[in-house]
Amino acid sequence: MNWGFDTNAIHAGGQSQGDGVPTAIPIVQSASFSYDTATALEDVFAGRQRGYVYSRISNPTVTALEERFVALENGRAGVAFSSGMAAISATIESLCEAGDHLVASAGLFGGTLALFDEVLSRRGISVTWVDVTRHDDWKQAIQTNTRLLFVEAISNPRLDVADIPQLSAIATQYGVPLVVDNTLTTPYLGSLREMGAHVVVHCLGKYSSGSGSSVGGIAVDLGIFDWSTCQSKLVQVASKRFGAFGWVAALKKGVATHTGACLSPINAYFIMMGLESLSLRMARHCENALVLAKALADHPLVESVTYPGLPQHPHRAFVDQWYGGRGGAIVTLATRSKSDAFSWIDSLRLIRNASNLGDAKTLMIHPASTIYREASPDRRAMAGVTDTTLRLSVGIETVSDLLDDLFNRRAS
Ligand SMILES: *Cc1c(COP(=O)(O)O)cnc(C)c1O
Repeated sequence: MNWGFDTNAIHAGGQSQGDGVPTAIPIVQSASFSYDTATALEDVFAGRQRGYVYSRISNPTVTALEERFVALENGRAGVAFSSGMAAISATIESLCEAGDHLVASAGLFGGTLALFDEVLSRRGISVTWVDVTRHDDWKQAIQTNTRLLFVEAISNPRLDVADIPQLSAIATQYGVPLVVDNTLTTPYLGSLREMGAHVVVHCLGKYSSGSGSSVGGIAVDLGIFDWSTCQSKLVQVASKRFGAFGWVAALKKGVATHTGACLSPINAYFIMMGLESLSLRMARHCENALVLAKALADHPLVESVTYPGLPQHPHRAFVDQWYGGRGGAIVTLATRSKSDAFSWIDSLRLIRNASNLGDAKTLMIHPASTIYREASPDRRAMAGVTDTTLRLSVGIETVSDLLDDLFNRRAS
């Protein structure tokens, strides 16, 4: 079916034909699935018949979500996970083993930074950090044991906008996949497949779910990398058996099934409900963010505003070309001091002080004392986080109410 984005967001995934089929996605809240005969269950285990056996391995509600999200990315196939971090961790594990290496952009989300710094090192996987805009440095960082390049489409919280086509060209030249975290852009802002990304990893609990109801993640093969040429051992073996689906098979059968970070059916349901309104929400998120970013330049507590949708943002040309001029909905603010930052947060009555982003509700946080609390000064600097930084995740409320709250204008 060749549907448009919004139609896929509502109709892709799950069963829609037949008599008496539920119009909302059923929540199949069952750990296991039974079969009438031993042969029937043997056939499913042997892969001769498709079927569900156990919800750590697969579940109909989760499959429906995977199909819907893959349709939105125009990808080949995907695997859902219990969180965005689980999706990232499993993706790395599918491509790297002890002794392997990856190149990542400096200024990644704090959770990813901690995974790469603390967990991957224990697994014997090394990381070289490179400024996302310095394309020659990416080439120089690639070694014979490099298995992937990792970047965020718009980085959180530094708000660098990656030039995905350029990085894809470098990845292709060196025969490694480019893995992109598009949590801040979502498939709505732009097509990573058209930009040349090979794999997408996504935190589903943010804009995709939309209401901050659930945690979840997904990894999607965008269908343009030739996995038969992949240097990763697990993928090489899987490609021989599963052809073009080699990487997804390696991820699913070689990692996800055994490590067990499966998404629960009820969370898959909430996220699918969220995806149905992704376009409408993202349009409003971006609109509100632009209004706030412009207005906050004049706020007495603000030294500077960073937002990729502002004309003066250094990567604005890319935002215009690939994201329709929409800069997402995260705005970072430099204040004069930590105490100014704290007292501003304390003064807010509508905007919540919370560590999530991509919620329908506007959230503000002081990253240095929270998300980056454990990070070394060096890592904080890499992420562009200082004691005076505030991160605003702009929601979809009435924008004048947000302005009134931020400027402490309230009727007495
Ligand atoms: C939140 C986030 C993640 C991690 O997702 P979880 O579901 O919280 O594990 C990964 N990348 C980015 C950019 C995020 O904002």
